[in-house]
Amino acid sequence: MVPSASVISDDPSILFNIAGMVQFIPYLTGREPAPFSRATSVQKCVRTEDIEEVGKTTRHGTFFQMNGNFSFGDYFKEGAIRFAWTFLTTPEAEGGLGFDPERLWATVHHEDAETVDLWLKETSLPRERIQFRGSEDNYWHTGQPGPGGYCSEIYFDRGPAYGAEGGPEADEDRYIEIWNLVFMEFELSAVRSKADFDVAGELPAKNIDTGMGLERVAFLKQGVENMYEIDEVFPVIEAASRLSGKRYGANHDDDVRMRVVADHVRAGLIIMGDGVRPGNEGRDYILRRLLRRAVRAMRLLGVSEPVLPELLPVSMEVMKASYPELERDFDRISRVAYAEEAAFLRTLESGTALLAQAVEKAGPAGTLSGEVAFALHDTHGFPIDLTLEMAAEHGVSVDAEGFRTLMSEQRERARADAKAKKGSAKDLSAFSALLERGRTEFIGYDSLSSDARVR
Ligand code: ATP
Ligand code: MG
Ligand code: MG
Ligand code: MG
Repeated sequence: MVPSASVISDDPSILFNIAGMVQFIPYLTGREPAPFSRATSVQKCVRTEDIEEVGKTTRHGTFFQMNGNFSFGDYFKEGAIRFAWTFLTTPEAEGGLGFDPERLWATVHHEDAETVDLWLKETSLPRERIQFRGSEDNYWHTGQPGPGGYCSEIYFDRGPAYGAEGGPEADEDRYIEIWNLVFMEFELSAVRSKADFDVAGELPAKNIDTGMGLERVAFLKQGVENMYEIDEVFPVIEAASRLSGKRYGANHDDDVRMRVVADHVRAGLIIMGDGVRPGNEGRDYILRRLLRRAVRAMRLLGVSEPVLPELLPVSMEVMKASYPELERDFDRISRVAYAEEAAFLRTLESGTALLAQAVEKAGPAGTLSGEVAFALHDTHGFPIDLTLEMAAEHGVSVDAEGFRTLMSEQRERARADAKAKKGSAKDLSAFSALLERGRTEFIGYDSLSSDARVR
């Protein structure tokens, strides 16, 4: 059992850990010898690519936990299939998950006949509940030359109340993907796209990487409708409902907002827990966006007072059983979060009036100019995605191309400025003056630059 790595990825090509295998990449690629031949983990994951799905599907969180078992040259396909089936179908009283085997389905790559045979040999899954898919869905590689291989995914059938029959190929809302088994067995010499690559041969050591969504299993086992209603998430929905006076379950759009709030507050908590602070670039910006989207969703539910002081502690209370450090660090985390909300509320106040004017001027089905979007960004700190979202709520579109042009012009100017300054000796006199005045205290958690000063 290997502890979860931080959500912050060590891999420079991704900002966050997006899967359990990320911390094992050196072993999986053979770059480093693995210190063990088998491993399991429950990895904290952040997938911003799913942000638009959150609250609308039953099963996508920006934060989720991925259970996985891994083999580094040890067991292969047969073992992975047997372990997965056994864990899923063994009764709860005997340590398994107790899923009804009659309701499980699998997908297999259409060229991977071996895996079909193994499903039939190792488990009671009948041929009719195995479906074939192409490389878009059932082939794994990193996008670079290196290891690759087929995968086989396991789905749970929620039953006829949730959609048409026909397996995962027909309906992924009724048939919920719970587990992905990846068989790394080939060496790829060239990768042009997800489904277009050249296989050079077999890997000397074959590896297994699997990922099972903890929240998906939890929602199916807890008898609720989606992952936002599980014990680790739902209390935040209840708090959002209490604060707004909106009953969860009464109105679809409000329900989506409450689910977004619960997801984003939890994701923000975990990301701040691992040390990220809101800012304008990279990870920091993603955190900022999550927190601000949560605050915005609460405003759309009718709450304009600060909400994070009400919601964040609720999320911490339910997450601390798994992550006790969240409670230990809650002073730091909550200060960061509350300062971010306060800054955002100020931004909203100054920008919203300007945006409303511009929207009115654009008229129904009109377009907001790139200049307005740029002014909102530049002088009011309105992120472009917020402008896009708020304009869309009024049926108005935004000249995003014009906005981008103005942004790159500004960047050019900044670069030219920096170049002009380069060469002149760095002026450190401001710092030496501070040093002479004695001890300084960092108060940036509560106050932002303009009102921060030496105490
Ligand atoms: P989906 O098709 O539902 O988007 P995926 O194929 O992108 O899922 P994988 O990359 O195969 O997901 O990840 C392994 C497992 O992690 C999935 O089978 C699922 O159980 C879980 N999972 C993936 N993305 C999410 C998410 N955004 N929220 C919750 N669980 C997730
Ligand atoms: Mg996905
Ligand atoms: Mg999938
Ligand atoms: Mg998958």
